[in-house]
Amino acid sequence: MDSILIDTSAKTTAESWLGEFAAALASGNPALLALTWNLHTTSGAPAIAQRVVPAVARMAPRGLTLAAGRTPPRPVRRAGTDAIEAIFTFETTVGPCNGVLRLVSEGGKPRAWTLMTALDEIRGHEDPANGKRWQDVDWKRNFGGENWADRRRQAVAYENRDPAVLVVGTAQAGLMIAARLSMLGVDTLAIDREKRIGDSWRRRYHALTLHNETRVNHFPYMPFPRSWPVFIPKDMLANWFELYAEAMELNVWTATELTAATNDEAASRWTVTLKRADGSERIMHPRHVVFCNGVSTLPKTPDLPGLADFRGAVRHSGDAGSGTDWKGKRALVLGTGTSGHDVTQDLVVSGAAEVTIIQNSATLIVSLKEAQAPYALYDEDISFEDCDLLATSFPYPIYERAHQRMTKMNAEADGELLEGLKKRGFKLTSGADGSGWQIMYQNRGGGYYFDAGCSQMIVDGRVGLIQFADIERFCAEGARMKDGTVRQADLIVLATGYSGQKEAVRHLLGDATTDRIGPIWGFDEEGELAGMWRPTGQPGLWFLAGGLAQCRIFSKVLALQIKARELSLIS
Ligand SMILES: Cc1cc2nc3c(=O)[nH]c(=O)nc-3n(C[C@H](O)[C@H](O)[C@H](O)COP(=O)(O)OP(=O)(O)OC[C@H]3O[C@@H](n4cnc5c(N)ncnc54)[C@H](O)[C@@H]3O)c2cc1C
Repeated sequence: MDSILIDTSAKTTAESWLGEFAAALASGNPALLALTWNLHTTSGAPAIAQRVVPAVARMAPRGLTLAAGRTPPRPVRRAGTDAIEAIFTFETTVGPCNGVLRLVSEGGKPRAWTLMTALDEIRGHEDPANGKRWQDVDWKRNFGGENWADRRRQAVAYENRDPAVLVVGTAQAGLMIAARLSMLGVDTLAIDREKRIGDSWRRRYHALTLHNETRVNHFPYMPFPRSWPVFIPKDMLANWFELYAEAMELNVWTATELTAATNDEAASRWTVTLKRADGSERIMHPRHVVFCNGVSTLPKTPDLPGLADFRGAVRHSGDAGSGTDWKGKRALVLGTGTSGHDVTQDLVVSGAAEVTIIQNSATLIVSLKEAQAPYALYDEDISFEDCDLLATSFPYPIYERAHQRMTKMNAEADGELLEGLKKRGFKLTSGADGSGWQIMYQNRGGGYYFDAGCSQMIVDGRVGLIQFADIERFCAEGARMKDGTVRQADLIVLATGYSGQKEAVRHLLGDATTDRIGPIWGFDEEGELAGMWRPTGQPGLWFLAGGLAQCRIFSKVLALQIKARELSLIS
């Protein structure tokens, strides 16, 4: 950053730029981004102008000012670039909005590098979490009348009404969107085919503990207790889900499966069939269906040559259970992502006689400690709310560059471990263009492992390693190698990942509707996640999924879009 930005205070520079920006908007002169009721990233003056001009006319942004009471403008370094970062607020015809501005110095003058705007609330329909309780019922001693429990029973029963929104799935994505919508006064029913809320986590392998830290994983409205461990064990998280649903007064039906859904375009509503635990069916007509059915729900089980001949047990990692069941036995684990490594480690420490991991493709390995790098923003001395806002404010090229830098630094810090793995024949990758694990997750839902000890076991030879390409076929005893030897096994674990959300709903919606949806997950050409928490090709059909932090941040974005449609602010 050159002298003009250093000499001038961050606040004055940001204030002065915002003043000019506000004047340009008021004069109808196209400047930068504005509200579009969708998620878009636009670069370059002509493209920005094309998108902004109609939006400015419609939304009438006004009152741009530095956000009071939030992180003040300050010099930062983002993706290796020095900038002044400022949070600002403004109003539109819809409601109050937030923005994040980054200024860099060009020829001694401050110039906008990135600018992000986001609707915060819909005026007149504010989220009560911001201090305004929408339930005006104060539950005074109403002798002879209904009490809170009566009202809750009626709300959950849906005897004489249908919800406006049906949420499919009650893991974190489903619970968070149900909470956001309920707080906005949108009648929402969340269902899950599992018996208990949280069972999708409970059923995962015994040893599973979260791989990212508790401090970034909080739920909206209800942060985890401060006494909780740095990494949350799966059952502890699952029990929190139940508690959250209860505390947030969510309408949930468990042991209820969505078995069919058809859209009536003319009536702008769905006909959904819900199969309940007692075998009965309930037909409902919600206006919106939100699929929170998980990116890791439908196991991929590849058709492997000879596997049908194997005499031992074959399990997908999602149903691998506990390593203690395989004490003294031999196991082959196919897959070197998170599940493959975790299941392998569990088998080894539980006393399996011999465990060999089979690598199919190059894998990104990063130590658990270094893998927390993308969350460094949450270490800055600013509020959690500001961290969430800043986290969404990077256009893809800058986001990618930041991840390339982190990935390089991580690999240097983990140098010894990575060298050890290479010596053992383990194939490593750093992701597309070296962009690291998070972009891998957002593109394909896996392909990496945060080392919690298993990589060292491979380095030390406690875990065997073979390349899938060296296997000729599976056979009754295990795996027949191309060199003629046989790797004996009692158990084969397929840690081969999961199919995406869209494929998981194809049988419910049919091909025509599913094909209309468009791409789901993975980055689109603008660098936004395709079809996630934004309109899909099928009106009234939405998707939400991802890690806990992603679900927390983007459940708000999705809830506002649905609420706006319920209010007919947008069709
Ligand atoms: C091994 C592993 C480790 C992970 N570790 C982390 C981590 O450390 N940190 C992190 O942030 N993320 C992690 N993730 C990623 C992600 O957080 C989880 O996959 C998480 O479970 C996703 O939550 P979800 O709400 O999207 O869906 P899921 O947990 O997959 O839940 C989907 C729910 O939808 C229900 N459902 C599906 N179809 C229907 C239907 N037709 N009718 C009714 N119900 C239906 C299912 O029963 C299920 O309960 C991990 C994932 C895996 C597989």
